[in-house]
Amino acid sequence: GPSSGKPKAKRWDNYISLESRSRQPSSLKGAAKYLGQPGLISLGGGLPCAENFPIEEITVKVPAPPHFSEQACKESGVVLRSGKYDVSEGKGAYDLSIALNYGLGSGSAQLIRFVTEHTEIVCNPPYEDWHCALSVGSTSSLEQALRIFCERGDYVLSEEYTFASAVETALPLGIKFLGVKMDAEGLIAESMDELLTNWDASAREARKPRVLYTVPSGQNPTGATQGTIRRQAIYKVAQKHDIYIFEDEPYYFLQMQPYTGPNSPPVPAPKTNEEFLKALIPTYLSMDTDGRVMRMDSFSKVIAPGTRVGWVTASEQIIERFVRHNECGVQNPSGISQILLYKILDESWGHDGYLKWLINLRLEYTRRRDVILAACETFLPKNIVSWNPPMAGMFLWMTLDHTRHPSYPTSTPLSIKEIEDEVFLASVGHGVLVSRGSWFTAERSGFEAKELFFRATFAAATEEKMTEAIERFGSAVRGVFGTAN
Ligand code: PMP
Ligand code: PLP
Repeated sequence: GPSSGKPKAKRWDNYISLESRSRQPSSLKGAAKYLGQPGLISLGGGLPCAENFPIEEITVKVPAPPHFSEQACKESGVVLRSGKYDVSEGKGAYDLSIALNYGLGSGSAQLIRFVTEHTEIVCNPPYEDWHCALSVGSTSSLEQALRIFCERGDYVLSEEYTFASAVETALPLGIKFLGVKMDAEGLIAESMDELLTNWDASAREARKPRVLYTVPSGQNPTGATQGTIRRQAIYKVAQKHDIYIFEDEPYYFLQMQPYTGPNSPPVPAPKTNEEFLKALIPTYLSMDTDGRVMRMDSFSKVIAPGTRVGWVTASEQIIERFVRHNECGVQNPSGISQILLYKILDESWGHDGYLKWLINLRLEYTRRRDVILAACETFLPKNIVSWNPPMAGMFLWMTLDHTRHPSYPTSTPLSIKEIEDEVFLASVGHGVLVSRGSWFTAERSGFEAKELFFRATFAAATEEKMTEAIERFGSAVRGVFGTAN
C-alpha cells in the first residue's frame, strides 16, 4: 500500500491457525534477497537455465480497445510478442526467461504491480499496510484463507444459500458453513448480529465464528447484490463481533446496467472510465479501515477461467501468511498465464484499456440478462415462478411457489425436496438443465428448506438457446404444477 497518513491494519495474531502459524519462510525462496547484489553468481537455487527452455517466443492476438468484438479482433486485433530475452535486450520489463523459471511466492513483480495499481484505482483501501499476492484463482484463495484463519471444528458464516464449492472446500478441512438469512440484497446484517450475539458455544460444540465468507455482488447462486448501506451495516456487525471477512468477488465487474423492464429503453452506457467506476458499488476493501477483509479477485469471469490467475488483497500480516502457503503449495500461477496477462493488461491495454474492456463486459452481460428476463416474462407462469432481476453476476434465482403444487390441497402434500426433484427431472425431460436450489445450502445437514428455488445462468448459452431453454422450463413447471395454472 503506497499511501501514507492512513492507519495500520489491526493485528490478527490470535486468529491465525496452528497450521498457518507453523509455516516458516521457505529456505530457498528466502535466499532470493541476495540476488540483488551486483555481480553475484548464483549457484544457490535450483533454477534451470533459460537456454534449456524449448520456447523461443509466444505471441497472442487480442482486441485493441475499444474494439472488442470477435470480428473486430479478427480484423484489427493486435499481436503481442514475448521473447525469451526481451529484458536483457531492452525490449520490455518481463520476458520468457523470467516467466518460465521459478518465481516469487507472491507472483511475478510485474503482474503484482499491475493488480496492485488496479486495486488502488478500484478499492483504494483506507489503511496503510495493504498488499496483493497472486493466487491461482479464488477457489484456491479461499482454500488457503480458510487454512489461515480456521481450525477443524470451526463454523464460518456465509449467505444461507452459497457457492457450493466454497462449502465443499471447507468441509474436508473440518470447517462447516453456517447460513445467515438473506433477502433481495443478500445477507441480512441484523440476522448475522443476532446469530453471533446469541452464540452458544456448548450447544453448537464450537467456538464463536471468527470469519464471514460473503459474495457481495451477483452472489452465487441467488444473484443478490448487497447495496452500499447493506455492506456498511455488515461491516459494522463484523467490527462489533470482531469478524474477519472473506470478500469473494468474482462477479464484481459483472455489475450490469440498471434493469428497466421489457419495453423500456436501456440506460445509457457509462461514457468514461470514471463514470463506470462511480457506477460500481463500493467494495468491502474500500471501507476496510481495520484491515479485516481479505478480498479475493479473479480473472476467471473477466478474462477467462483457464488463466487460473487471481489475487488476494489484505494486510501485510495476512498476505505474508498467504505467500508462505503459496511457497509450499501452488508456488504461483503458471508463468505462461502470468506473462500473457501481463502482455495484455499492462503492455497493451493499460489500466485505461482494461477498464474499457470491463465496460464492454458490463454491456454484454446486461444484454444477456435482459434476454433471459424477457424470456421469463414471456414463458414462465408468474403465479408460480418469481424472480428478482439480477444487478450483477450471471445467475437468475427463481422461486417456485410450492404451495401451488397439486399435492397441496390434499392431506399428503409433497415436501419441498420432492417437488424440487419432480421439477428438476421434468426440466431435463423437456431438454433443459437448471441447478437445484438445494445444492447450494450453506449447511449440508439439518437444513430445512422453506422455499423452492432453481438457478439458471445467462452466461453460458446463446441468446436464442437461452430463450428456448426458458420456454422449456416453463413447460416443465406447468406440467408439474398442472394446467389449471
Ligand atoms: N520435488 C523435488 C524433489 C524438487 O526438487 C522440486 C523442485 N526443486 C519440486 C518437487 C517442485 O516441483 P514443481 O516445480 O513441479 O512444483
Ligand atoms: N467464488 C465464487 C462465488 C464463484 O461463483 C466461483 C466460480 O464459479 C469461484 C469463486 C471460482 O473462481 P476461480 O475460477 O477464480 O477459482
